[in-house]
Amino acid sequence: MSRLGESSACARAVAMNSMDSDVIIIGGGLVGATLALALARHEVTSIVVDAQDLDTTTLPAFDGRASAIASASGRMLRALGLGDILDAHGCPIREIRVTDGTHPQFLHFDAGAENDPLGTMLENRLLRVGLLRAVRDCPEVTLLAPVTVAGIDRDDHAATLRLADGRVFRAPLVVACDGRRSATREAAGIPIAQWHYPHAALITMVTHTVPHHNIACELFYPQGPLALLPMRDTDDGRPRTAIVWTVDGKHMDAARKLGPRQLAAEIAARCDGTMGEIEVIAPQAVWPLGYHHAARYTDTRLLLIGDAAHGIHPIAGQGLNMGLRDVAAAAEVLTNAARGGLDLGSPDVLAQVSAWRRFDNSLVCAVTDGLNRLFAVPGSVPSLVRRTGLAAVERMPPLKRFFMNQARGETGKLPALLKGELV
Ligand SMILES: Cc1cc2nc3c(=O)[nH]c(=O)nc-3n(C[C@H](O)[C@H](O)[C@H](O)COP(=O)(O)OP(=O)(O)OC[C@H]3O[C@@H](n4cnc5c(N)ncnc54)[C@H](O)[C@@H]3O)c2cc1C
Repeated sequence: MSRLGESSACARAVAMNSMDSDVIIIGGGLVGATLALALARHEVTSIVVDAQDLDTTTLPAFDGRASAIASASGRMLRALGLGDILDAHGCPIREIRVTDGTHPQFLHFDAGAENDPLGTMLENRLLRVGLLRAVRDCPEVTLLAPVTVAGIDRDDHAATLRLADGRVFRAPLVVACDGRRSATREAAGIPIAQWHYPHAALITMVTHTVPHHNIACELFYPQGPLALLPMRDTDDGRPRTAIVWTVDGKHMDAARKLGPRQLAAEIAARCDGTMGEIEVIAPQAVWPLGYHHAARYTDTRLLLIGDAAHGIHPIAGQGLNMGLRDVAAAAEVLTNAARGGLDLGSPDVLAQVSAWRRFDNSLVCAVTDGLNRLFAVPGSVPSLVRRTGLAAVERMPPLKRFFMNQARGETGKLPALLKGELV
């Protein structure tokens, strides 16, 4: 360490004497737990608080969703020690097909001969199992759940977290990872752009007789898209696929009441029988869909990341990936600041994270919202325009590469963690 580094590190050590940790993280969900782990790998300490008993969040009944984890996010999870979960339970996505209904003209993304798949499908609950185990093994992380946050005071000197049980903790920085209805964001008075889509996502899991060949399909219908996401085969060798079916508000009640056989028939009809015989193997769950994006990610000693900062339609499987990219950027900036002896909650440090993430998040929010609106327009003329558009993108290598890199999570300046490096 340089002499300058030594003296500033000393100053930080003196300041830290009155602090309980380097960072307080509100929310130990997928994003908050990953941040705690990433900081811990660089010896930055955190206190993570969550309102829920986190063991219940690993049960199938809590969250039956599976996520498409982009290859860059996957590299980060591996660097953080979660490769065993991805290898044991993840299903590589080798191709993505985007079609207007089942029209044969489609946009096609292919991992090609490269070893690196476009992404990996993994049940959320299994990712939670891996993250919780890893976080609990970290001496740098203090996990408190379930607890109730009574208030957070933030001033020029410190952020102070008060819990309803009377405990008080101080740190230079609070990171809000408390999801789309972030109470931390609201208490800070940070405005959001927000709208609700007139449809919801019905999710379930199916087995089928025709193998999926690791191909993810996004079939767009004016009533809403149907995503078929390849999962690892069942233990007895049956091909398995996660379903995200977007159903408009008018039809949601009827869709919710469909029995397993009727639901299987609806899915089969929408994919033209290409999956063979379908059996629904998980209860359907309905998720409301909306868009929100915080006007700013920072406030005095406060940083918003993950769904606390932005939430999008799951059409392109990017919401969690954006949150994980926030984690990678925040971890790099905060770790460098800690090494340099800087105040982790200073406006300059927080501005670096915000500047790094704003463009990518805004782009993904806009593209996802635009896609969703474009494909929702009914009628044969819009349909023809869409097919022509898909065919045009298919024939434009630079544009296709842009979408492919976006799917892989590899646009812009990548933080080291997204390259799979712990620095
Ligand atoms: C149907 C559907 C499918 C999706 N598919 C994909 C996909 O394929 N790929 C992808 O990248 N993304 C996908 N997403 C998006 C993704 O699921 C979210 O972006 C991601 O889960 C957000 O994680 P988070 O940790 O930021 O928030 P959350 O998962 O909401 O976690 C927030 C945590 O904060 C805690 N908390 C909340 N309030 C408080 C409080 N006051 N005090 C303390 N703790 C609190 C909660 O208990 C929770 O543990 C999908 C979303 C939906 C709805």
